[in-house]
Order: sequence, then structure tokens, then C-alpha cells
Amino acid sequence: MSASLLEQLVESLRVLPGVGQKTAQRMAYQLLEREREGGKRLAHVLGEALDRIGHCVRCRDFTETELCPICANSSRDRQLLCAVESPADRLAIEQATGFRGLYFILQGRLSPLDGIGPRELGLDALAALLAQGEVRELIVASSPTVEGEATAHYLAQLARQHGVQASRLTHGVPLGGELEYVDRGTLNHAFGTRSVMPL
Ligand code: ZN
Repeated sequence: MSASLLEQLVESLRVLPGVGQKTAQRMAYQLLEREREGGKRLAHVLGEALDRIGHCVRCRDFTETELCPICANSSRDRQLLCAVESPADRLAIEQATGFRGLYFILQGRLSPLDGIGPRELGLDALAALLAQGEVRELIVASSPTVEGEATAHYLAQLARQHGVQASRLTHGVPLGGELEYVDRGTLNHAFGTRSVMPL
């Protein structure tokens, strides 16, 4: 016998992060009992978002257009490129600092044990970007975790191969801290006092 619609709904809700069986059941009942209109809106927007949001061809951030608004903005400084692990980290830097350069979103950090290598982080696209010769400084804003440090080291080597200076946020970001959870003042300071990564 195939699963009932209610069972399918509960099972589908479990794709969301942190949602287990019990929470999914509660969500399903809430939608059916009290939030049918909101639920329909959610279903519609979710479908549209999944159909129409893709990756920016230049920086890999999520966007509905070929180039995201930041990459498409001609007043941004194309000599500065900041590599971040996630769209959330890009947003954190954008809100905390006066950075006017461009970004590259890795969508993760090097983690060979989880099957995340240079290809998964789009580093061939990053290399192609550096090879264009416009970028003068690659600011590596990966998190100060073990994997984030390994990623930073790899990116610094990549930058060097293309004659680009690599720098790293050094001060103030707590070890193991995720950038998106660092307060604005601390992040702004860490960004402003970034230092050149040694050869
Ligand atoms: Zn972009």
C-alpha cells in the first residue's frame, strides 16, 4: 500500500535541516489545522524558488539572473575578490564592512573525508577568474576551523600561481567560529586588519 498524503507530507518536511519525525508531524498538523492559506503560499513560492533560483555564473551565489546584483554592479572594485564559504558569510561581510569588491562563494570548505574537493568548491571557476588578470588581491574569508584553514592554504597557493596576492582575516574571529555568527564590529575589524598570507 502506498503512503497516504499525510505520510508523504511528513516525510517531505523532513528534508528541512533540524526537522525530525516529531517536528515534521507537528508542522503537518499545523498546516492542515490552521495554516492552509500559508501552506499554499509556501508550496507555490517553494516551487518557484526551486525552479528559478540558480547560481551566478561569476561568483556562484544564488540568484534569479545570470549575474547576481553584486557582480552586475559596475561600481564594485574588480581588483578585490573575497572568497567566502557561504552566501550567509557573504551577507555578513557585506553588512559588517564597507567592502566594495566582488565575492566568490565556495559553497563549502575543503573536506576530503566528506568528498568535498577543489571541484566541489568550484575552484576551476575561481582559477579562471584569477587568470583574467583583473584581480589584484584575493581575500580569503574562510572560517578559522581546521577545514577552513586548509581551504585558505589551498586558495593562497592558487592565487600565487596567478600572481595574485592572498590575504586572510586574522584578528578577532574566534577559533572555530563561523563568520555569520561573529558580531559586526569584530568582523569589520578582522576584515580591515587582514594580513598578507606568507609565501
Ligand atoms: Zn555573482
